[in-house]
Amino acid sequence: LLGEDGTIAATIFAEMSALAARTGAINLGQGFPDEDGPIEVLDAARQAITDGVNQYPPGRGSPVLLEAIARHQRRFYGLGVDPGTEVLVTAGATEALAATILALIEPGDEVVTFEPFYDAYGGLIALANGVHRTVRLRAPDFQPDLDELGAAITDRTRLILVNNPHNPTGTVFSRETLELIVRLAERHNAVIVTDEVYEHLTFGVPHLPIATLPGAFERTVTISSGGKTFNTTGWKIGWLTAPAALVTAILAVKQFLTYVNGAPFQPAIARGLDLPDSYFTGIAAALQGKRDVLERGLVAAGFAVSRPHGSYFIVADAAPLGYPDGADFCRELPALAGVVAVPIGAFCSPEHRPQYASLVRFAFCKKVDLLERAATQLAALR
Ligand code: PMP
Ligand code: GLN
Repeated sequence: LLGEDGTIAATIFAEMSALAARTGAINLGQGFPDEDGPIEVLDAARQAITDGVNQYPPGRGSPVLLEAIARHQRRFYGLGVDPGTEVLVTAGATEALAATILALIEPGDEVVTFEPFYDAYGGLIALANGVHRTVRLRAPDFQPDLDELGAAITDRTRLILVNNPHNPTGTVFSRETLELIVRLAERHNAVIVTDEVYEHLTFGVPHLPIATLPGAFERTVTISSGGKTFNTTGWKIGWLTAPAALVTAILAVKQFLTYVNGAPFQPAIARGLDLPDSYFTGIAAALQGKRDVLERGLVAAGFAVSRPHGSYFIVADAAPLGYPDGADFCRELPALAGVVAVPIGAFCSPEHRPQYASLVRFAFCKKVDLLERAATQLAALR
């Protein structure tokens, strides 16, 4: 995790947000919304602070949130989880991922992810001394080759780490792919860890939690977060649901990572999870409109674009514009067009990075007028 000179390489998100701040460019790099979430949720946090909900909550999470997570799983997915034993509140999805990986693998165990992968996956597998194997997703549709998926998962595989909808590609995996993952996990006795932080942000396709497939729940850890659903990425309220024995193992690690976090934000996220269905369909529809604005702008500027069906992100190929190297392109983009994006290579292992060299990721979780301004500026690339 340290560079050869002993320094820590900043994450790509920190580096690109700093570049945006330095240059004044529109930041479509790091994925965070530029608007607040629902007033009910914000008010609930303010109220909780006023009401004195300011000390350590229970180790598994505040009961109101544990119960709201269980209600949410039943309402949207028909999944019955016991709030007392099968739910754990974490410091964002990031801590859920960290505690799960540290709890469930021994040094040398293999963890299979898709590639490109959310950058924390690589770091966390390394922290746990795991061996990271990947199944490559390829432009333009970024769906996995099922034979490659089958070949990657073996008796050495301890965890299959799925991310659906997928960051950075915006891919939503098909039922066929998810069913194959469950069959492979059963055959090789692997645990499925599924990062579904974009569960409510899909465009015209339903979100299918892998835990709802036959045979899946008993071997699956499902991870989500309030950050994306309620525009509260800075609150870092995440959670996981899993069979009780897995939650116990993960809690054993989690208690020594953060112990607990965010007391007044927990009842506020509980309030959000109980909002009516119209809230959830509304955020997806609004985000789909933003995707369309940015996609049109990128196409007009000459990029080859892969249409995402979920998440905050769109992948664009800069090669048709004469830029074969996405990392160089992202460094130049503030000067060329006043926009910041992230190279897809940042989500890849060094050996596979060349296969993704010309691809870059743009975030569209921004106000429409900002996206329109970005689109106008990007037109200068033509
Ligand atoms: N997983 C994925 C796929 C993400 O995109 C993100 C954040 N953007 C996270 C996990 C981290 O979520 P949190 O901020 O809740 O830790
Ligand atoms: N998950 C966000 C993204 O992909 C950023 C989170 C972070 O900064 N670590 O852009």
